[in-house]
Amino acid sequence: MMRKLVLLVVALLFVSCAKTYDPLSGREVFTILPTSEEIKIGKMYVPLAIDENDGRYPDKEVQQYIKQLGEKIAEHTPRKLDYQFYLVNTQAVNAFALPGGFIFVNRGLVLSLDKEDELAGVIAHELAHVNARHHARFLEKVYGMNILLSIAGIFAYQTKYGDILMNFGKIGAQLISLKWSRDQEREADRLGVRFAYDAGYDPRGLLDTFKIFKKMEKVKQPEWLLTHPLPETRIKEVKALIKKLDLNKPLIKDSPNFHRIKNKLEKTKPSFDLYYKAKEKLAKKKKLAALELLNKALEIYPENNAALTLKAFILLSEDKFKEGTQLAVKAAQLDELYFKPHFFAGYGYFKLKKYRKSIDYLERAKELIPNFPDVYYFLGRDYEAIGKLSLAAKNYEKALKLTDGKRGWEKDAQRRLRKILGY
Ligand SMILES: [Zn+2]
Repeated sequence: MMRKLVLLVVALLFVSCAKTYDPLSGREVFTILPTSEEIKIGKMYVPLAIDENDGRYPDKEVQQYIKQLGEKIAEHTPRKLDYQFYLVNTQAVNAFALPGGFIFVNRGLVLSLDKEDELAGVIAHELAHVNARHHARFLEKVYGMNILLSIAGIFAYQTKYGDILMNFGKIGAQLISLKWSRDQEREADRLGVRFAYDAGYDPRGLLDTFKIFKKMEKVKQPEWLLTHPLPETRIKEVKALIKKLDLNKPLIKDSPNFHRIKNKLEKTKPSFDLYYKAKEKLAKKKKLAALELLNKALEIYPENNAALTLKAFILLSEDKFKEGTQLAVKAAQLDELYFKPHFFAGYGYFKLKKYRKSIDYLERAKELIPNFPDVYYFLGRDYEAIGKLSLAAKNYEKALKLTDGKRGWEKDAQRRLRKILGY
């Protein structure tokens, strides 16, 4: 009996393993999570990561710069993926990656650095974690294959939707703030220094970044150090790695582009500073003070999509539906991957009884972050209002499955659902 069981387990393991070419060792390795699924999972969390970091910086030139710099380094990495790079609004000094090659650089990080090789060093390090499949290995270790495949196929298999979505938020939160082990950091440093160097950058840029972070640490620890610990031994090891490289060849230390972009970020920084102050005021329930700060923020930088979104939220909560909806629509147009303004626009249009417009925005919000229960509740209300009762029922069911019971609309959703289903 026991032996049979063991055989069964072994057989199952092989069924669910896939052979993948490991670009680092050049060997075929068995992996549980195939690259195609790893990419699907990473891609699915891009909007969540953008939302958690207050949207993407709303300037095409800035996004283009990060994309070009990132791609230049990614070209010199062995794992061939469709790497994507995003500059997000948050002031936290951080950069991070999602599985499958989605790299995020924070506005706060660029502002804290002095030259391009420092930024290249951090991006190369994040690319190294992806190349070493650290995210994938985390997922394999913590979650079973069934969960991973159903997460990756969340839109393909609508049937078990509710159950799968229960895991969505949990996995997302973990992926966004994965803390690396000492060994993983060592591996990422080894690879990252190489990638930056092969792309033509001075690998000592990373050491300069470390210096900046160590200095900042005395006042406030940069967020990057929370997930990528930086003991003195690590600095020593990176120095030793760099010593082995030929530093006499021409290496890029800096570029005018970096400074043009940083300059742009510096000019709009006061606007974002006001946004964060407004957020604090709002947390203390000082809505009027928050609104005043947001108005100033938008005077300085009218495209500040984070400020537009927060102002929309406050106005909607004050029943100023028309103005609130307009602001949310503007913010959504500035970043089509930013969940909050899409949800707020959908909510606002529902309140204005413009149900079809509301459906457009809420369906999009649902695509971006599929586990937020309010989106389903208001979709249910929209579909009910235009007479599409079976769609309304489906959305009420999902809303009730996903809610924590404290959203305030649960009883109403139950009543409406019962009425549609006729009992
Ligand atoms: Zn790291």
